[in-house]
Amino acid sequence: MNTLLLAIMAAALVALLVLLLFPRRHGEEGEAQASEDARVSPLLRGINYLLSDQPDRALQEMVQVARLRSEAADVYMALGEMFRARGEYGRAVRIHQNLLARPGLSPEMKRAAQYALAVDFQTGGLLDRALKQYRKLLELEPDHVPALKASLRIREQSHEWLEAEALLSRLEQVQNRSYHEHRAYLFAQMAEKCLRDGDDEQAGTYARKAIELAPGCAPACFVLIELALRDGRWPDAERMMRSLAEHNREHFPLVVPLLLRFEQVYRDKGRALLMEIWRDTHDEELALSWLEHVGAADRQQARALLDELGFKPANLRARLRVEAVFEDERNPIFARAWRRQVNNYICEQCGVGVKELRWQCPQCHAWGSMHPQKGDIA
Ligand SMILES: [Zn+2]
Repeated sequence: MNTLLLAIMAAALVALLVLLLFPRRHGEEGEAQASEDARVSPLLRGINYLLSDQPDRALQEMVQVARLRSEAADVYMALGEMFRARGEYGRAVRIHQNLLARPGLSPEMKRAAQYALAVDFQTGGLLDRALKQYRKLLELEPDHVPALKASLRIREQSHEWLEAEALLSRLEQVQNRSYHEHRAYLFAQMAEKCLRDGDDEQAGTYARKAIELAPGCAPACFVLIELALRDGRWPDAERMMRSLAEHNREHFPLVVPLLLRFEQVYRDKGRALLMEIWRDTHDEELALSWLEHVGAADRQQARALLDELGFKPANLRARLRVEAVFEDERNPIFARAWRRQVNNYICEQCGVGVKELRWQCPQCHAWGSMHPQKGDIA
């Protein structure tokens, strides 16, 4: 049983119990005790079922409570929450839509139901409808932070970077705080998209915007480096690479495959620059990434590079990576097999590991939080 679901159900039941035990008294003092009992007992049974790990029966009792207190919007809100937590989005949607159709719903409850309905759509994967619903809510309450954040998440999922950036700017205003790094990554995504679509000029504009916000924004640096290399502007490419090495050493090694795509430039100038940065930093990831990319095309060259670097792996992970470069391809023993399945990047925020780098963590959605997996193998 999902613990989150249990927690939500338990919280909803407790809230209902409070509502029923301390009802807003109106009319004659002490309404018929019998009717009060009829309301409370299904709730107590529900809690009992929940405690004995029978959530389905607990939910049946909750539905019973809602029938007996049909006037109470908060009971329906709790019920909707429980259906959504169980993955029954259709029922959650119906409950929240029925609530919204009620005449005389307080403005506060109306906004709560609108938000809940949007969350139903979003968790059910109906992103367009969720977005529309969040927009309706934001028309009523433009500073609704959870609705702004949820809309931002949907725009990012849909790769609608300009719309995402507008929402992030709004959040900056509302919360009076700066999300400059996050914004930099959104501009970098726009730059990458323009680069793919062949709009070099716009790609450059967005990438420079990103770097103004965060000089260590690696994807933006890569766009500018690629544009400079393509146009034969080596001094610009070099300046950008040095800046990246200074501001974001962890992601600098990703420049290696990019440089290798421009063979002539790599041989004439790129190799010497990488060697200079290696001698200054002795960054393990740089040596490993360089060896791996060179070795993928030419193992002889990788052997010569290894000698020139004078690189000595300091732990088992690094040793296996070097071995995987030189292991006999016709007879891969262990290192190559290990290399194929190992996670190369880990999120410093939530700890999730992935093979291929992503600029946005697939689990916690933080930007630029994935770093090369280092140190010894646990
Ligand atoms: Zn994460």
